[in-house]
Amino acid sequence: MNIIWFRTDIRLDDNPALEAAIKDSLANNRAVKALFISTPEQWKKHDRAAIQVDFLERHVQLVADKLTAHGIEFELAHCKDFSEQVELIVELCQRDNVVGLYANAELEINEVKRDERVRDQLLGTEFFTFEADVVASKGEVRNKQGEMYKVFTPFKREWLSVVINQGFALADSKRALIEYQSSDLANGDIKSPDIVFEADKVDSSAWPLVTELRTELVPDFYQKIARYGEDRDIPSINGTSKLSPYLAIGAVSPKRLVFQLMHNVPNILDNQSVAEFAWLNQIIWRDFYRHLLFHFPALCKHNNFNDKYDRLDWPNNPFLFKAWKEGKTGYPIVDAAMRQLVQTGWMHNRLRMIVASFLTKHLLIDWRLGEAFFAQHLIDYDLANNNGGWQWAAGTGCDAQPYFRIFNPITQSQKFDPEGTFIRSYLPELKNFSNKDIHFPHKVLKAEKSNVYWPAIVEHKTARENALDFYKSSEK
Ligand SMILES: Cc1cc2nc3c(=O)[nH]c(=O)nc-3n(C[C@H](O)[C@H](O)[C@H](O)COP(=O)(O)OP(=O)(O)OC[C@H]3O[C@@H](n4cnc5c(N)ncnc54)[C@H](O)[C@@H]3O)c2cc1C
Repeated sequence: MNIIWFRTDIRLDDNPALEAAIKDSLANNRAVKALFISTPEQWKKHDRAAIQVDFLERHVQLVADKLTAHGIEFELAHCKDFSEQVELIVELCQRDNVVGLYANAELEINEVKRDERVRDQLLGTEFFTFEADVVASKGEVRNKQGEMYKVFTPFKREWLSVVINQGFALADSKRALIEYQSSDLANGDIKSPDIVFEADKVDSSAWPLVTELRTELVPDFYQKIARYGEDRDIPSINGTSKLSPYLAIGAVSPKRLVFQLMHNVPNILDNQSVAEFAWLNQIIWRDFYRHLLFHFPALCKHNNFNDKYDRLDWPNNPFLFKAWKEGKTGYPIVDAAMRQLVQTGWMHNRLRMIVASFLTKHLLIDWRLGEAFFAQHLIDYDLANNNGGWQWAAGTGCDAQPYFRIFNPITQSQKFDPEGTFIRSYLPELKNFSNKDIHFPHKVLKAEKSNVYWPAIVEHKTARENALDFYKSSEK
């Protein structure tokens, strides 16, 4: 028997491990079995958001049902953490006489170490791993010295050249499944298990299953992608793809998205001026952060990318941190954004940049605390993107926003939510303020002696000066 072990690749489309497991099975007349192992304690340790656990559970159920319908048995196993996972997988391979264990490799350091231990401990089972989480292979995009780029733009240039010259292949796992289903190996007598994780969960049903996004391969977003460049920074417009939760658990393949984009806009890789390139650019940022983690695994341990910032002694005032988490800073754009995060499990990218800058530069709170809070709440939590985004905002990262560029939350609000539409949707207490006053209602409130809204916890100009002094302390 072969086992296909699902982890962060909860999909049937473009799944190289699934395709290889089935092809080997058909060639050698041995059955395939699918496996998912839940690890609630490990998820807790990794701050995995309860809404993401729920979203994952629903997608594992979807995959289990579909595989069962194709005659492939699906087993759900449970264990505490990665150590137990190693023991369990080794035992299972022995119990079922497994010839080949197939999986798509994960990127993070604990996951990589776990797989090394599995490989070391397996007896008589070969462990095959594949790459399914990026478009350009990790390790392929390097500068002339053979090193990973530390700046995005030259990375992007080389990324495009690699993708144009080498192309990329999609795994035909769906065809393999159909062949399996029509073979003698398919088992028609099996039932799909009920997928239930014994873990903290928060209802994710506002996010449809991947199969409901028109079709898995043609998300609705392709209809409005040409407007992405104009709309992407306006939180009150539904102008981005909202595919991040699906990419984060591997329900959607990044290669498939780029393949589809190339089909719709054939010259996209050669022409950065086409409107749709703005979106491809973000997919390249996603690859950039994954390649970074691959080359610098210490980032998984939440180290500053630029170690000169190790000298920063963050004050981490707990009162200020609490106000930020609860959306009570007195800066409407920050507070509305934080409420969007806590209430929905998602936050618009422009707002992530604003609140991350505010936490680190206005409140002088270590970016790692913000990173963990995001992880605990985001349905699209992904270590590479979250770490990359936080270090970018804090100025400690690779190709980051320099520390002296400090977003003014009021002007950001005026620019990206000019009529206060987004603010009003999360801060109903401000709904009657004018478009002019809503970005910082305190002058009006003072005149009216009203307490409808929180006072500003810091004053922008003073906070900015404090931040500059604080960051300069790392230069000494
Ligand atoms: C402080 C901070 C924390 C973040 N944490 C996460 C996280 O945990 N998980 C996550 O997926 N993204 C994270 N991002 C990146 C970005 O905010 C989200 O990917 C994006 O908002 C998701 O919405 P979308 O799918 O509609 O994106 P779209 O704008 O439609 O972009 C398409 C895809 O490109 C990728 N992408 C978009 N923007 C970025 C970016 N700036 N960096 C890397 N990849 C990007 C995502 O996979 C996204 O789904 C973070 C950004 C910041 C500033």
